Amino acid sequence: MTVFPGDSGLIFNEPLLWEKGKKGRVGISLPRPDVPEAAPLGDQWAGPAPDFPDLGEVDVVRHYTRLSQWNFGVDSGMYPLGSCTMKYNPKINERMAALPGLADVHPLLPEEYVQGPLRLMYELQNLLTEVTGMDAISVQPTAGAHGELAGMLVIHAYHRSNGEKRSRIIVPDTAHGTNPASAALCGMEPLGIQSNDQGILPVEAVAAVMDESVAGIMVTNPNTLGLFEENFQKIAQVVHSKGGLVYCDGANMNAIMGIAHLGRLGVDVMHLNLHKTFSTPHGGGGPGSGPVLVRKHLEKFLPVPRIVKDGDRYRLSDDFPDSIGRLHAFYGNFGVMIKAYSYIMTLGKDLKKASQVAVLNANYIKEQLKSVLHLAYDRPCMHECVFSDKNQKDQKITTLDMVKRLMDYGFHPPTIYFPLVVHGAIMIEPTETECKEDIDVFIEAFKSVVREALEDPEALHRAPSRSKVRRLDETAAARKPCLIN
Ligand SMILES: *Cc1c(COP(=O)(O)O)cnc(C)c1O
Repeated sequence: MTVFPGDSGLIFNEPLLWEKGKKGRVGISLPRPDVPEAAPLGDQWAGPAPDFPDLGEVDVVRHYTRLSQWNFGVDSGMYPLGSCTMKYNPKINERMAALPGLADVHPLLPEEYVQGPLRLMYELQNLLTEVTGMDAISVQPTAGAHGELAGMLVIHAYHRSNGEKRSRIIVPDTAHGTNPASAALCGMEPLGIQSNDQGILPVEAVAAVMDESVAGIMVTNPNTLGLFEENFQKIAQVVHSKGGLVYCDGANMNAIMGIAHLGRLGVDVMHLNLHKTFSTPHGGGGPGSGPVLVRKHLEKFLPVPRIVKDGDRYRLSDDFPDSIGRLHAFYGNFGVMIKAYSYIMTLGKDLKKASQVAVLNANYIKEQLKSVLHLAYDRPCMHECVFSDKNQKDQKITTLDMVKRLMDYGFHPPTIYFPLVVHGAIMIEPTETECKEDIDVFIEAFKSVVREALEDPEALHRAPSRSKVRRLDETAAARKPCLIN
């Protein structure tokens, strides 16, 4: 009998600290005063003292510990959120980023005092160009979408330097949602094209719209269906033959680290998500890093300042007259770079193995679940696989019902209703983090949910029934967010 990790028996209720406080309770032990008590400073100087509750130490410790137990993260369990690469982030990376010589360094220090941090960024840049097969890089952009914007600006600058004004860009339906948004932000008009029944881009669809008015193409590879764009090289040839450039959204690099040489595939510009592939905790809008990488002929357009090595000294240089300029204060999010550097140095040649295991895990889940869930594209996948709720239509069970029920079994739901090309999509990305035993429990939990869809559909409609909060009105939560309690 499988034991599922989800059991909410010891998750506590917890009121606000203000409701918990009791007059006179204290969290510290001081000797009894041998002088008369005086009123707090607030009373004498600036009106009443703040209305803080009086609490004992254990009240405060339990309060925050209980709140932390309501949370779920990759440190507590499997987090199979497709497209997000929620992999475990080794704590050694945090240790490295917290070293005082790195964590306390001020961005305005003169160069002679920050040779170490400059060298780290320089070496990280070299490692990332090697992993991708690109020629030059800037680590300044601070998110995937920011890297995309940098890339679009580079493409724009390239065409302008050729005396051309191209303002349309091809974006397939399997691209990430940020792609058309970044293109539009740069003043480009996204030209939508459709993937084929294999879930990948046909060369003909690109050839049909590619002409001298089109700046290039933005392809997410592997795409948001978790499939490798097998026609990539031919598509790049079509785009290049009309003077366009090829942008690759490399946020899904977790599937192909050290395996695919993107430069040789025909990519001119791309971005990486260090906070996904290269192991920085993310979610909730925390600091990210989305380096932009280019081929040699586009290097002069990269953002400034750039890190330059003279002999064995490192310095920052703004002396690149064709640069698209500065995209962020200072150099971007240095802390994220330290973690990526630490991650790559720790794995070394095994970086490739991380990708191989991530792909193996996703294919294993795909094969194990395709007997019960409708598999959108039945072919080998990369780091994630996409199912739908088609098989559950007759029972009137939706994707939402199933993944909410998964929570009762102790699993964070996968990504749902994305990508849009699959109706009722369930997108699972296990990453390389999970071992076979844990993946087997996940598979069994999902199979059990599917069985319940037949035998006890109400359990799914009611789900989650064991979590701290029950099913929320997600439309109201998005439309009328309650931001102040
Ligand atoms: C996450 C992701 C992005 C956007 O990255 P952010 O850091 O969230 O801006 C872009 N493309 C793909 C394929 C992604 O998975």
